[in-house]
Amino acid sequence: MEKAFSKNLINIEPYVAGEQPRSADIIKLNANENPYPPSPEVHKAIAAFNADGLRLYPPMDAAPLRQAAADFYGLDRSCVFAGNGSDDVLAAAFRAFFNSDKPILYPDITYSFYPVWCELLKIPFRTIPVDEGFNVNVEDYYTDNGGVVLPNPNAPTTIGLGLDRIEELIKHNRESVVIIDEAYADFSGVSCVPLIKKYDNLVVTQTFSKSRALAGMRVAIALADPYLISYLDAVKDSYNSYPMDAVSICAGTAAMQDREYFEATCGKIVATRQRVTKRLRELGFILPDSSANFLFATHPDHTAREIFSYLRENGIYVRYFSKPRIDNHLRITVGTDEQMDKLLELLEKLINK
Ligand SMILES: *Cc1c(COP(=O)(O)O)cnc(C)c1O
Repeated sequence: MEKAFSKNLINIEPYVAGEQPRSADIIKLNANENPYPPSPEVHKAIAAFNADGLRLYPPMDAAPLRQAAADFYGLDRSCVFAGNGSDDVLAAAFRAFFNSDKPILYPDITYSFYPVWCELLKIPFRTIPVDEGFNVNVEDYYTDNGGVVLPNPNAPTTIGLGLDRIEELIKHNRESVVIIDEAYADFSGVSCVPLIKKYDNLVVTQTFSKSRALAGMRVAIALADPYLISYLDAVKDSYNSYPMDAVSICAGTAAMQDREYFEATCGKIVATRQRVTKRLRELGFILPDSSANFLFATHPDHTAREIFSYLRENGIYVRYFSKPRIDNHLRITVGTDEQMDKLLELLEKLINK
């Protein structure tokens, strides 16, 4: 019902996350979570965590986590920012860097949180269409703008750009801040973190939710020139000081420090991804080579909606978006080999019927 004060209420379309199944038997391939547990070092760190310490405010600036990330990348700690998941980090970045009257630019097919923030923060934006193959052409971004945000690899398309392309994008936008959202970069082997030493207008965001298997906590970082990091700190400290809780800092630090486990689990996921891609193509699916921990597939003889429902009835959840241009595609997270074999078995049955 229309209330007298309705016109003063926020008008917003919230982000819709992948469904959380009630039963533990469901194979959940709909939120790009990691099928492997976090590092054993995370288990140890949480077990050793002294709850007495929770009476105190957490370490200011999430200092241990920032230091671990700086060490991982060979950067100075002043180049690292940390927050409660990359949604928090990206929100701080949008607030800090996108204050122009000119629109910010991002692809028409991309992470659907960007429009949510633009609306919430009243940031003007313009979407740039990806081509028919879902490729981002960086030349399309050589135009006057108030900022650029681009996931690399892009989601949900799985397509990654090479470092040379990203560098061109940054070079042609020296008067704006360019945010590269590297939520899935650990599965692509391409990270533009080394470019932050060269370009003071680049911000790289990374989440611990995917490649470090900590989606159940909220841990993410941004890497940039210290000048931009100081703005992120200023924004974050203005709306929540002491931003990350002590347990998340502890677990995130342990995850960052275990490089070996991180590389081994990412490697397993990449190997599974390659195998499943090949098999899906044999079954007639059409999908780009994925640079992420998920696949983006369509089939000429079965609609995405039909396959989505069929898999759901058989205990496998994948993601379907009823959105223009991608409403006949499915986004399928790469799980364990065993989970993917069940998926393939069901798809074989459907296709060979
Ligand atoms: C998952 C995801 C994020 C954020 O994840 P958090 O869990 O909030 O850290 C950011 N960007 C993209 C493109 C993602 O897919």
